[in-house]
Amino acid sequence: MLRVIKASQQRKISLATLLTGLVSLSVLLTLTILLIASYQSSKKSLIDTTLTLNLTNASKMSQTIDSLFKSMRSSLYKSATFYSNMSSMTEDEIYSNLELIRYSSNYFNSIALVDETGLVRSMSPKSIGSAGKYITTEESKTALALQQPYLSKPYIAATTGRLLVFMSEPIYDMNGTYRGYISGTIYLQEENILNMIFRSNPTDEIGSHFYIVENEGRLLFHQDTNRIGEDISANQVVRKLIQGQSGHEQTVSLKGEALLAGYVKVPANGWGVVVASPIDVVNDQLEQHIGAVLLYMMLPFLMLLLVVIGFARKLAKPFVTLADLVSKIGRDKVEIPEIKQHWNREADLLTKSIRYAISDIKKQTDQLTHEAMTDPLTGLTNRRTLEIIMHQWMEEQTPFSIIIMDIDRFKSINDTYGHQAGDEVLKHFAQIITSTVRPGDVCCRFGGEEFIALISHAAIDEAFLVAERIRHTLEKNIHPIGQPITVSQGIAHYPSHSASAEELIHMADQALYKAKQSGRNQTHIAKFR
Ligand code: GH3
Ligand code: MG
Ligand code: MG
Repeated sequence: MLRVIKASQQRKISLATLLTGLVSLSVLLTLTILLIASYQSSKKSLIDTTLTLNLTNASKMSQTIDSLFKSMRSSLYKSATFYSNMSSMTEDEIYSNLELIRYSSNYFNSIALVDETGLVRSMSPKSIGSAGKYITTEESKTALALQQPYLSKPYIAATTGRLLVFMSEPIYDMNGTYRGYISGTIYLQEENILNMIFRSNPTDEIGSHFYIVENEGRLLFHQDTNRIGEDISANQVVRKLIQGQSGHEQTVSLKGEALLAGYVKVPANGWGVVVASPIDVVNDQLEQHIGAVLLYMMLPFLMLLLVVIGFARKLAKPFVTLADLVSKIGRDKVEIPEIKQHWNREADLLTKSIRYAISDIKKQTDQLTHEAMTDPLTGLTNRRTLEIIMHQWMEEQTPFSIIIMDIDRFKSINDTYGHQAGDEVLKHFAQIITSTVRPGDVCCRFGGEEFIALISHAAIDEAFLVAERIRHTLEKNIHPIGQPITVSQGIAHYPSHSASAEELIHMADQALYKAKQSGRNQTHIAKFR
């Protein structure tokens, strides 16, 4: 039965599991919400920071290019002033000055001096071999015709096949007559002033890259030199630069990559600088951030879980103890538990209620047991209990004597004085027996006006003395009915007369019969067979 209960209980959820589960669930939910919130806010702030950083970098680079361009322009302007009297200068003079200009600043990859007819008077470095020839490219012709400071778009030089940009400054003589121009070129795909300055890109560490476009959207500078010269005016950010805007935004590159870009226009020449980071960089940082948050939360979470498990076990303990206690009722002897104040209100209430309930049950059971064991009129042990005790003693092999007593002519007492008086006599006699025997002996109302006393550890003669004491006391006592009452008694001994309870009673009864027959008011000992 108990095993069945236990087996069915194993399928139920324990309080400890329930509490632990609930706490884990709520902690995990909170954790998830926190993580999502943290993820969202971190993502926004990371994106904002990256955008701002890229804008700042683009702005710094734009300023650098702006000052660089102004310096280059001013260097060309000074050289143009210097060459205002080039008609009086020898070819060597012109050439060595060009060399000087080129080496002193590193601004240009090549410098050329062109007269008003379009003849290349001199060129540094000489190796290009254009000196003494007439200009052929559109850009050179535009510069010559313009007679003003000029900045070309990227183009491929016909003679060398190089991709370059070209800037020129007009030369005027003392009289203000236009005498040609001095021009400097930047070889876009080779070592040049731009990559000398920007080679060490400060934004490389966070995976970002940058590029420079000219005012029609062609690449002037890019980490991938093969792309230099490419028209990327379709790019959303580049389009904004062409329209003269600066700023930052989340965008998509022409290759479809999501980027966080800062873009700034260079005021001096209309070029634009773009610094862009792939959004994956932000995602990587976010992953690291969330990983760290999870790691930090793991220890407190585990500690909380341990506390909750301990707590739940403590909470469940009184319920288990009480269930155990209640399940014992009716089987074992239940001891009323000591009232221990429990910190949990419900457990405390339950413990107290069960204690009171057990106490009540115990009282009732004791009462019932007492009633089941005793004779209601005299308060002596009844026949059933007597038989149980006899068997117990026999099992323990405790020697004892049995005295069976029958009041003489009791019927006539009833008939003369009434049944009630008869009852009083029975109670009176019961008292006499009880007060005569020792505390460990057993007094029993065997039925009607018959009584039995079990005298433990008593030999026959000792039992005889006890019986006689009872008989004499009854005889001499003042009685409820006012006349002497006598009793006849028969004695048998365990184990000398018999080892069977039934036979023992029977033998004692036989002795009693003999006493009755011999004139009543006497004690007889059963005969040995
Ligand atoms: P004897 O000397 O041969 O024992 O004579 P007796 O009258 O005592 O014997 P008998 O067994 O004939 O009568 C027993 C009587 O006891 C009969 C019954 O009315 C009475 N009696 C039995 N139980 C009770 C009881 O509980 N109360 C009262 N008042 N009388 C009882
Ligand atoms: Mg009788
Ligand atoms: Mg009788």
